[in-house]
Amino acid sequence: MEKQKLVILGGGESGVGSALLGKAKGYSVFLSDRGSLKDSYKRALEEASIDFEEGTHTKTRVLEADIVVKSPGIPDTVPLVVELVQAGIPVISEIEFAARYTKARLIGITGSNGKTTTTLLTYHLLKEAGLNVGLAGNIGDSFAKQVIDDQFDYYVLELSSFQLDGMFGTHLHTAILLNITPDHLDRYAYTFSNYVNSKFRILQNMTPNDHFIYFDDSEVIKDGLTSRSVDVKKLPVSLLNRVATGGYLVNETLVASIDGTSPLTIDVNLLPLKGKHNIVNMLAASLAALTVGVKPDAIEQGLMSFKNAAHRLEPVAVINGVQFINDSKATNVDSVYYALESMTAPTIWIAGGQDKGNDYGQLDEPVRQKVKALICLGKDNQKLISYYTGKIPAITETQDVSDLVQKALTWAVPGDVVLLSPACASFDLFRNYEDRGDQFKEAVKKAAKASAGK
Ligand code: ADP
Repeated sequence: MEKQKLVILGGGESGVGSALLGKAKGYSVFLSDRGSLKDSYKRALEEASIDFEEGTHTKTRVLEADIVVKSPGIPDTVPLVVELVQAGIPVISEIEFAARYTKARLIGITGSNGKTTTTLLTYHLLKEAGLNVGLAGNIGDSFAKQVIDDQFDYYVLELSSFQLDGMFGTHLHTAILLNITPDHLDRYAYTFSNYVNSKFRILQNMTPNDHFIYFDDSEVIKDGLTSRSVDVKKLPVSLLNRVATGGYLVNETLVASIDGTSPLTIDVNLLPLKGKHNIVNMLAASLAALTVGVKPDAIEQGLMSFKNAAHRLEPVAVINGVQFINDSKATNVDSVYYALESMTAPTIWIAGGQDKGNDYGQLDEPVRQKVKALICLGKDNQKLISYYTGKIPAITETQDVSDLVQKALTWAVPGDVVLLSPACASFDLFRNYEDRGDQFKEAVKKAAKASAGK
């Protein structure tokens, strides 16, 4: 019998992982990337004798596919993808492809913000409790690569809306929906409801015994649930109301239970993750851990020992009594809202980059209360400058991180905070948000050294 033809569009972590998995499962695999591949990926493909191309998509070869795994970075509107769909060729995401080859229980986590934090935390809670668990999705090694020798009993998956768009049959045993606020609208015909629908795809194959954990204070999520018939065990998380089954905050104590009995209770002041948004993330992750049988005391230990990834409200250094914080991962307005809200001192706010159709109105209140100066760090800062002129007393701009730190130090007085929380993508001046955060940290640390040497 002729081998099934698997074509992979996009040769990043998920694409190369899918290619390796496809090969291991007996497909004839061809990987096509319009750009260039990392050397390590090329070597991995060559070692597995997988055919690939760079710099173009050879249409005739791509259209020969029986099945296509598309990188989440490639929009559905690209003509080649439209043609594939019109030809009736299934176009799926890496998660969908890989899920076909695992028997593990899957925990999927989505939301506009908080995915990585909650995914890492859930993974940490399960791992510390001794479960045999893998971590995948938009994080670390691809899911596809990990299921080649399917060795885990559980996977915790970070799912972006782009991943969800390419998921059709994947069964999640536990799902978390953290929040839905406008983001990536350029990929959703600038229509919020399309993006909302994409997020709700997380529920599509869940059954009555599965658990759906969601942020109940979000009107968008509540409305979305009301308008869909969802037969699944619902576990709401709320900062405003007590819930019988689910998670909530009362008198600075986190409470979480999946059946109303023997709840997890823990004083938030003991926990390393700070800020209201992280309370939601911690409650959601704790509930997910409870759904797979982790005991409340093990969850408590795990919550206390967790260290978050870099670039998320990450303290960098204190220079002359001024605290510098790197929140480069805040690439949309909602995450900046929570960052500003958690500031407890007058703040010099660094924002800017590639605008995603931002509406800054949502930030008016925290900006008025917290921000004493704005430094714009983008190629084109006109939108920020014109919105905040008259609203923030001092505004300047720069495209150089060392200059940025100097400007911040000139304006700051002891006790102030300098917060990089850009509300924008980084690609105008940096390779990605990590590069932006790393350059910022380096410049801050250099300034700290210089100041200590004085
Ligand atoms: P994601 O992977 O969804 O981008 P991260 O965990 O990397 O989320 O956090 C991204 C940014 O969003 C951080 O700046 C953080 O301060 C903010 N954030 C984290 N959790 C939440 C939440 N539950 N609600 C709103 N903002 C959040």
